[in-house]
Amino acid sequence: MSKVRHVLGISGGKDSAALAIYMKSNYPEINIEYYTSDTGKELDETYKLIENLEIFLGKKIVRLRAFKDSPESPFDHRLKMVGGYLPSQTVRWCTKSLKLDVFEEFVGDDPVISYVGIRGDENREGYISRKANIQSIFPFRKNIWSEDVVSKLLSNSNIDLICSIADEVIPKNRVARFKSILEMPITLSFDRSQKLSQLFDLGIIEFNELVFKYLKTTSYPLGRESNFALLRDENDLKIEDIFKILNESGVGVPGYYNEIPFEIDGKKSTYYRSRSGCFFCFYQRKIEWVWLYEQHPEKFKLAMEYEKDGYTWNDDESLAELSKVERIKEIKESYIEREKKAKKPSSKFLLDILAESDSEGCASCFT
Ligand code: SF4
Repeated sequence: MSKVRHVLGISGGKDSAALAIYMKSNYPEINIEYYTSDTGKELDETYKLIENLEIFLGKKIVRLRAFKDSPESPFDHRLKMVGGYLPSQTVRWCTKSLKLDVFEEFVGDDPVISYVGIRGDENREGYISRKANIQSIFPFRKNIWSEDVVSKLLSNSNIDLICSIADEVIPKNRVARFKSILEMPITLSFDRSQKLSQLFDLGIIEFNELVFKYLKTTSYPLGRESNFALLRDENDLKIEDIFKILNESGVGVPGYYNEIPFEIDGKKSTYYRSRSGCFFCFYQRKIEWVWLYEQHPEKFKLAMEYEKDGYTWNDDESLAELSKVERIKEIKESYIEREKKAKKPSSKFLLDILAESDSEGCASCFT
């Protein structure tokens, strides 16, 4: 039987970098293989972050590249294959062929635990592989389990099985309380999230022990392990914790998050890029395109060169239009307006915007 592999993908964003630091610091006994899927179009700050992380981790982060025999970058190679059709939020061929496919090739048919840096304050699931040999675990969340595992565990058809597992793993003085919830079927008025939340209220560690034992009755990779240190992890990390981990480790926050001041008609603000990924990523906000234009003009020019034959990165305007003086002024002004509205007295604007932007896009490119 092949050994279970533990892998962690570094996207170049803050969360996956912080997760690598968190795992190395708290679970050094887990032999994690770190990898990054390089599209060939990442920001320089991303490559710098990966180098810093390698120093901290004391090991190499494996660079995965699609079409590795091609003389062109993976993105350019694939773009040619699709006839110059730029990817977009609705036709996102890039993530699949440049990130997910190379990852699945990297793990092959080995049983794999894949650690994903989705935080406790995010409302998204992240990438769950279609391949049964890859199981995702979310160490930053109170609920470290993926949606599919929870759904099977708590399904009404499994109630008898789970109650018998509870008898084995939950301490005698607490098992009756757990079983009183486990025995309640999911209905329209008592849904899975309510059931899950009541179980967590009784005890995160006990719930994790229950899931771990249940996995042994399934073909999930974790079911093959004799123990799993994260069962005792009760943390639920938020965005502030991520910045703290990055700063305290010395790895630092990716450079593109640094706020850069700008002024328009006497009104002052700051801008920065809020996510990792390709420099021309179509998920970026208009103000981030302006940031790219002003802070990395050579990259903006390269992004413009992709816009031909009627294809543009933004649906509503080309980069040539976006970079006109009047348009940049308009984008900055409307950004300042939105910033004013979004600002809450008790919260840092940067954190608000990051939290908002994290809810879009995918974990493979932006965690
Ligand atoms: S960062 Fe954006 S453009 Fe690059 S692969 Fe991901 S979704 Fe596609």
